[in-house]
Amino acid sequence: MEKIVIVGAGVAGVNAATKLVDNGYPGELITIIDMGKSPYERLPSEVMTGFLGAGGWSDGKLTYHTAIGGQLSKYCGEEKAMELMDQVINNFKRFHPKPEEVQCSNPEAEPDFIKPYFGLRLFPVWHVGTDYLHEIGKNWYDYLVSKDVKFIWETKVTDIHFEKNTLEYSHMPIKLGKLKVLEYDILIFGVGKSGIDFAQELANQYQLPDEPKSVQIGVRFEAPQKHFQKLIDISYDFKLYKKFEDKGVSLRSFCTNNNAAYVAVEETYGDHSYNGHAKKDMRYRNDMTNFGILMEINGISNPFEWSREAVKKLQINGTGTYYSPSRKPSTTSEGNEVSAVQVDNMDPLFEALGEEYAQYIEDFITEMQIVFPTLGDDWGIYMPEVKYLSPEPLVNYRNLSLTKFPNVHFVGDALSARGITVSGAQGTYVAENVLEQFCKVEEGSYICEWDNVNGDVINW
Ligand SMILES: Cc1cc2nc3c(=O)[nH]c(=O)nc-3n(C[C@H](O)[C@H](O)[C@H](O)COP(=O)(O)OP(=O)(O)OC[C@H]3O[C@@H](n4cnc5c(N)ncnc54)[C@H](O)[C@@H]3O)c2cc1C
Repeated sequence: MEKIVIVGAGVAGVNAATKLVDNGYPGELITIIDMGKSPYERLPSEVMTGFLGAGGWSDGKLTYHTAIGGQLSKYCGEEKAMELMDQVINNFKRFHPKPEEVQCSNPEAEPDFIKPYFGLRLFPVWHVGTDYLHEIGKNWYDYLVSKDVKFIWETKVTDIHFEKNTLEYSHMPIKLGKLKVLEYDILIFGVGKSGIDFAQELANQYQLPDEPKSVQIGVRFEAPQKHFQKLIDISYDFKLYKKFEDKGVSLRSFCTNNNAAYVAVEETYGDHSYNGHAKKDMRYRNDMTNFGILMEINGISNPFEWSREAVKKLQINGTGTYYSPSRKPSTTSEGNEVSAVQVDNMDPLFEALGEEYAQYIEDFITEMQIVFPTLGDDWGIYMPEVKYLSPEPLVNYRNLSLTKFPNVHFVGDALSARGITVSGAQGTYVAENVLEQFCKVEEGSYICEWDNVNGDVINW
């Protein structure tokens, strides 16, 4: 039997442990270390740490689609990904004090007027209710404790020695000379966003190979909301997309803001790029819509340098650029003009991205003019919008283990997830792989004959 240590009691780690003990894996052999607190002690201000991690005080929206919330189907295929997400959603219902109140919003099918030109991502969301998350956390924690899973709270893992199968940890606040050492056979590393720097340190220290990354670049599009109202009524944060698989390119509208929608300047590595945000207070209402038209380009050998070069070419006098056939840059919510130098045409975009890639963006806009006929020339673009993707360690897709250290599994936001369902599903996926080492799988169920904790597992 293997001793399993889970770093991070977040959504990924907790779902992994649950899958294991649900199938009889001895809880005594599972230790979960977290720098935060148990659900009985965790304060609302502790947003990122403690039982269920960032998911514990989140908005409680469980998205149910493989295109949302990071990578999952890449590892295990579409069908398996959906099945794993089902398990996570069922866990949230199972420990919910009023499971009948968990509602699923499932938008209608893609409207016909969009179809010939764009795909529209509409996806179901299960609403757990933020106010119930705390109670869910307590019920879930009690279950794991009842199964003898050991939790070590307010304790930070400070170093991991992958080649020795040991880790160092210290009670918070960390005092020098007070480090303890723990051994593991299997390590599940689920430190989430709050541990991303630690994950990066380990990646550098052990020179862990990275998953090849794509370029994510485009423009922030802005227009009066009335042109898009027909679509906004169906989906507030609509996601239009187009794929050119043979070219390794896809485009999507990204992060739509409506009603009181403002374009914002972001500083990335000293250059300007654009993003958007919406104010809740309707005093700021400006009846504008803005969203990114983000293009993902695969197969560029040095995506980070490539993107930086393109971003630099779109800077004039220390700020980004704006093009519109009819408009001027808008104002910020403070009433200042959005910082951008207006240009007469889209040539700078073509120079920055190259003919082929800029053409995709121009075509995206042209097709929106067809789908939304009142749009005409009543729009503008702020150039560029860019996302620099952080490195993601290369794992074996079968079980999310590091290619260099097969008993170390990365899960959740520390790998490639960006949400509760995908993080939990990755934890479950790893747990299933561990179970498969000890159990027979028959018609989707694990047939395990667990011996006592210290004994040997039955050899099938
Ligand atoms: C305010 C907010 C609202 C959100 N709302 C939603 C939502 O509605 N829907 C959705 O899908 N997603 C939402 N998210 C994102 C979602 O919460 C995360 O994607 C998800 O929790 C990631 O799960 P994880 O297990 O990878 O990491 P986390 O849940 O973040 O857990 C990581 C855990 O690791 C611990 N840890 C980190 N480093 C160490 C270390 N060195 N030693 C010991 N412990 C460590 C942390 O204390 C933490 O408890 C929200 C996030 C935030 C911050």
